[in-house]
Amino acid sequence: MPVGTLANVKTLTPAQLRDTGAQMILSNTYHLHLQPGEGIVAGGGGLHKFMGWDGPILTDSGGFQVFSLSEMRKISERGVKFRSPHDGQIIELTPERSIEIQNTLGADIIMAFDECPPYPVSREEVETATERTYRWLLRCIETHKRPEQALFGIVQGGIYSDLRSRAANALTELDLPGYAIGGVSVGEEPELIHEIVRVTAPLLPVNKPRYLMGVGTYREIAIAIAAGIDLFDCVIPTRWARHGTAMVRGERWNLKNARFREDFQPLDADCPCYTCKNFTRAYISHLVRSQEILAYTLLSIHNITEIIHFTQKIRQSILQGSFATDFARWLNTDNSVELEHG
Ligand SMILES: [Zn+2]
Repeated sequence: MPVGTLANVKTLTPAQLRDTGAQMILSNTYHLHLQPGEGIVAGGGGLHKFMGWDGPILTDSGGFQVFSLSEMRKISERGVKFRSPHDGQIIELTPERSIEIQNTLGADIIMAFDECPPYPVSREEVETATERTYRWLLRCIETHKRPEQALFGIVQGGIYSDLRSRAANALTELDLPGYAIGGVSVGEEPELIHEIVRVTAPLLPVNKPRYLMGVGTYREIAIAIAAGIDLFDCVIPTRWARHGTAMVRGERWNLKNARFREDFQPLDADCPCYTCKNFTRAYISHLVRSQEILAYTLLSIHNITEIIHFTQKIRQSILQGSFATDFARWLNTDNSVELEHG
């Protein structure tokens, strides 16, 4: 899922986004609540109509942003109070409020409001947050008023395998339409992320979508798919594009680099995207150096297509029974780690 924080995937029209092969996009409840406010989105006919995207949309709960972005937050059993970065006003986000906002926005998939502890943090704090996340989930289910929106629960538990499995089992009993693994990619080493996913994903039902939040790179995606993950979101393809960086077969290319100035090949000859079909590295390098807005559009088109194409190739390999060998380069990990046990 490309990330469309403020009801747009930056620099792309919905038609351009559609052509990348993107099926579902993610929008951020926290950001939309602050700007323009869910009332205006609802006034515009709901998120799909307001932003002109008729494909599936997922909204996150706002929890991750409240915990990672806002200063002066105060966490209680009731919810989280924080200061608005726009006008300094105190805002309270609770499980009830998050679901009401998401019901008003109208995405197809909505996420439970969870407490996402930072890393590193003590086991006690992770345990407290994981248990509170479960109590908050029950309040989310109670508040949720639009059954056509699928409410996903989020498994927390940090780097502790026993907390992860306890949370996964408790959530599974609630028979939700889908499940997410949250609280990863918050600063841990990649090997630790892989291990959390390997431990947690198989505990979630195979007949429901399993979503790994905020991940990633080629390697993380391949390893997570091997563990059973179906859905990903990541800002990297579009964020890198806006920094003049192309993703090419798992590498990161800075188009400002002198080697691209007279390189008249496409970014990736195997990439099916509009950018690679029509433009050269030299042209994109020129646009990036000149800070032309088209540079960021062309790179966003390419980067999103590139990563979606990667997952399409994985799907094909799985169907052919050759995933483990075709993607060995991404799946093999040298230094495996053990998660901490209680
Ligand atoms: Zn391309």
